[in-house]
Amino acid sequence: MTALQEQLKLFAKAQGADVCGFCDLGVSPVKELPTLSHAVSIGVKLSDAVLATIDGAPSFTYFQHYRAANALLDQIAFRLSRELEKAGYQAFPVAASQSLGKHNPYRGVVSHKTVACLSGLGFVGKSGLFLSSEYGSKLRLATVLTNAPLESELPVIQNGCGDCTLCKNACPAGAIYGEKPTTDGQRNFDAEKCSRYMKEHFQDIGRGSVCGICIKVCPKNKL
Ligand code: SF4
Ligand code: SF4
Repeated sequence: MTALQEQLKLFAKAQGADVCGFCDLGVSPVKELPTLSHAVSIGVKLSDAVLATIDGAPSFTYFQHYRAANALLDQIAFRLSRELEKAGYQAFPVAASQSLGKHNPYRGVVSHKTVACLSGLGFVGKSGLFLSSEYGSKLRLATVLTNAPLESELPVIQNGCGDCTLCKNACPAGAIYGEKPTTDGQRNFDAEKCSRYMKEHFQDIGRGSVCGICIKVCPKNKL
């Protein structure tokens, strides 16, 4: 690990991050800023007790906790960006919950899951959930893009699901195809179908909630 990476990881953890990794994306996902081809991936672990309130349906407690986790991640990403700038680099914090607007609601500047995968922090399961090596699906993610020469310290996990199809069999929305996981969860999971199911059945709780079934049935989840 380089001295800069060590410094950034210590800083992120002191601010509340539970995991922090690094990768070289090869190209910048921001076309106006082509030098931002490296990234820091940060994650915060969700509360076990709050996740236990999800049982076949989302809960208000989970929804509020999810928003609090996003706010913490955004703060950490903002402060990490300041640290990178102080070290002489460009830095671009990407919010934990991102969207490119109503025509592209399920895409952001960059996929946090892809960045976390390339940083070796875990893999995207057939459920489309990011499954952290340390915490399973109990992790929310954010990213800082930068021109600092960061390199992954861990190998990418190619296929953590094997032949399991428990989440596909259990999903009430038919949103999980059960195909081999990739580093991009969008390809084996239909976010629109999942979201539509949530809106139809749990409209009062709000966007960002999950019914929780794919979390509960996953043997990789450390609940
Ligand atoms: S949150 Fe529920 S509806 Fe959405 S993918 Fe998971 S199991 Fe399916
Ligand atoms: S339930 Fe099985 S197939 Fe689905 S994400 Fe977890 S390990 Fe992968």
